[in-house]
Amino acid sequence: MPFGRGFFLALAKSDYLNNHVTRWGFVRRATKKFMPGEATDDAMRACADLAADGRGTLFTRLGEAITQTAEATAVRDHYLQLFDEIKRRGLPGHVSVKPTQLGLDVDVALCESYTMELAAKAEATGSFLWIDMEDSSYVDRTLALYRKVKEAHPASGVAMQAYLFRTPKDVADLLPVKPVIRLVKGAYAEPPHVAYPRKADTDRAYFDISDAMLRSAREGGCLPVFGTHDVPLVSRIVARAKELGVAPGQYEVHMLYGIKDADQRRLRREGETVKTLVSYGSAWFKWYMRRLAERPANVGFVIRSMIG
Ligand SMILES: Cc1cc2nc3c(=O)[nH]c(=O)nc-3n(C[C@H](O)[C@H](O)[C@H](O)COP(=O)(O)OP(=O)(O)OC[C@H]3O[C@@H](n4cnc5c(N)ncnc54)[C@H](O)[C@@H]3O)c2cc1C
Repeated sequence: MPFGRGFFLALAKSDYLNNHVTRWGFVRRATKKFMPGEATDDAMRACADLAADGRGTLFTRLGEAITQTAEATAVRDHYLQLFDEIKRRGLPGHVSVKPTQLGLDVDVALCESYTMELAAKAEATGSFLWIDMEDSSYVDRTLALYRKVKEAHPASGVAMQAYLFRTPKDVADLLPVKPVIRLVKGAYAEPPHVAYPRKADTDRAYFDISDAMLRSAREGGCLPVFGTHDVPLVSRIVARAKELGVAPGQYEVHMLYGIKDADQRRLRREGETVKTLVSYGSAWFKWYMRRLAERPANVGFVIRSMIG
């Protein structure tokens, strides 16, 4: 298939396209399905709408690795203000950030101190800080960062990827710190010695890891968060939670804005804790290519936006 997962993940690495495609109106229109708008205010409005039907929001301003410390400082400043704004508006909003946006590639100590500052701010404003997981070259550094942040600021969580062979052990090693873990399948192009090339294997691994997380939750250990749109998998996990005696408030389901929205609302009605990740900002190209890679049929939205 010409438009397969690998095709879009390869495009996601192109800085040239990143700098040009974002100016094309028809692609901008196509992204509307996945983001309410580029401005912070657009994301705030989406958060208020989601709150009206009982869903929390995770805010994430799009962007990838930065190369100058001043850029990391700007990211930190943006989120510090955002926490204040979330509190001022009384919204149920949390923040999700990529360590490379806070300078992980440039200056580890700076990244750590900025992440700590954001976690402290999250705590002070009654919010929560999520640390995203990027490609496999960042896993050790991201988990080390999370351990430090979690020790100082309990209102913090980290994403972990079921497609990586190492993740069951990483999760087991982290459980003693009572982590908050968002389990996702994994969005990056990884080599076959690092991650399952076959989706069925990732799906199986996801369920097995979710089982270990739920067992830990039952003992008062981790807070499991299931970040997936795989509705049959979510149903199996919810059933497993019931079997284990883990109540809906002891785990959460998170999905992206605009994806499986009817299921998000249904799960909420059924008493599950559901949160929606809302992306905003102008640096959406690489992120959008990963969304197309997840479901190549989404390219239809781009084509319809060209002619519509
Ligand atoms: C809240 C949240 C946070 C995330 N954070 C991270 C992170 O920190 N690091 C990371 O590597 N990945 C992250 N991801 C992305 C994740 O790794 C997967 O790439 C993504 O969720 C797609 O896999 P899936 O679990 O939805 O399952 P799949 O099996 O891929 O999809 C399940 C169903 O959802 C539909 N679907 C999936 N994606 C889309 C889409 N883009 N558009 C339309 N339908 C779709 C599919 O068609 C299918 O019906 C996050 C995802 C979520 C929901």
